[in-house]
Amino acid sequence: MKFLLTKELGRLAKWLRILGLDTTYSKEAKAATLIIEALREERIIITRNHRLPAGRGVRIVVIEQEKIKAQLAEILEALKINPDPGQMFTRCILCNEELQAVEKEKVKDKVPEYVYKTQEEFITCPKCRRIYWQGTHWGNVASTIKELKLR
Ligand SMILES: [Zn+2]
Repeated sequence: MKFLLTKELGRLAKWLRILGLDTTYSKEAKAATLIIEALREERIIITRNHRLPAGRGVRIVVIEQEKIKAQLAEILEALKINPDPGQMFTRCILCNEELQAVEKEKVKDKVPEYVYKTQEEFITCPKCRRIYWQGTHWGNVASTIKELKLR
């Protein structure tokens, strides 16, 4: 399952990527352009826009919730998605590219010193070159996901 999120759902797009779901995000406002993009890449459109025309061979899910955690719960429920912990943190939050492992020595000058000293595993985005590691941020994300599952 792949997704295309419309312009008002940028934060939700990041969350879906954290979960490892293939998610693009479009600032395009024209319905026709969004639909062509979704058809071409076989994506489900997720939007808060009630006026997107349905019935053109594209599935559209309209999100009603306003808060980010509630939106995430809503979409997982609507599409019966059960996040796979093994898939989490496998995509770049900014560009949706699949992350690749990178040798520790190679990130030495690119991450804060204390991070370099305390972390052993690093992954990087082949597109934007951002480097990720398992720090406190990931811990927070994991607890949010746990919360969602308890609903
Ligand atoms: Zn990236």
